[in-house]
Amino acid sequence: MTTTGDQLQQVRGRIAQACARAGRDAAGVRLLAVSKTFGPEMVREAYAAGQQAFGENYVQEGLDKIAALADLRAGLEWHCIGPLQSNKTRPVAEQFDWVHSVDRLKIAQRLSQQRPAGLPPLQVCLQVNIDGGANKSGVAPQDTLALAREVAALPQLALRGLMAIPEPQPDAAAERAVFAQVADLAARLRDALGLPLDTLSMGMSADLESAIAAGSTMVRVGTAIFGGRPPLAARA
Ligand SMILES: *Cc1c(COP(=O)(O)O)cnc(C)c1O
Repeated sequence: MTTTGDQLQQVRGRIAQACARAGRDAAGVRLLAVSKTFGPEMVREAYAAGQQAFGENYVQEGLDKIAALADLRAGLEWHCIGPLQSNKTRPVAEQFDWVHSVDRLKIAQRLSQQRPAGLPPLQVCLQVNIDGGANKSGVAPQDTLALAREVAALPQLALRGLMAIPEPQPDAAAERAVFAQVADLAARLRDALGLPLDTLSMGMSADLESAIAAGSTMVRVGTAIFGGRPPLAARA
């Protein structure tokens, strides 16, 4: 087996163990492989090892990879998980399957308008700035219900849930507490809006166990599958 295949197996094992410890069915947690900074050949390897859902942070890099892997398109699911500027929404609406990083109405409206009619609705999560962290992306918790109400009404979007990237925490208990706030907020939205909202996109390589304990349904894992990324400054 390839290294990528081995690492994928290991991450699947971690997910299964975390689910077992939480008394959850492992089928309730999806693995999103975050392939940012890695080339299309790595995605091919992961696909050969059974992985279908991939996350990209940078729009142009994601588009280049989608094009390079056009032969696999029907078997792949592409998720945009990075900050989105309004002048970049069109290709995202046209080419991706999911967007996890919707944090304002203007972006959501553009994505809905620009989603081609022949495609299924774009699946979206609202990114919540759950801890008011220095990472400034994300809607404030107190503004999330109002935004969710408006996004849910957009015709070419399907609102699926919430995404969060909490600041690093000192220990697992603190991690779980922050993730639990995201889960609580999602439960409040469900009650208020009467929508299924089946997705909690939270947990990465370092904290996926805590996220699963708090109810995550989709963990976004890069390093633990593909290895370390070069520092930002070193990227071409
Ligand atoms: C890079 C990234 C990940 C994956 O992080 P790892 O620590 O490499 O697992 C997950 N989510 C987002 C939004 C990211 O930018």
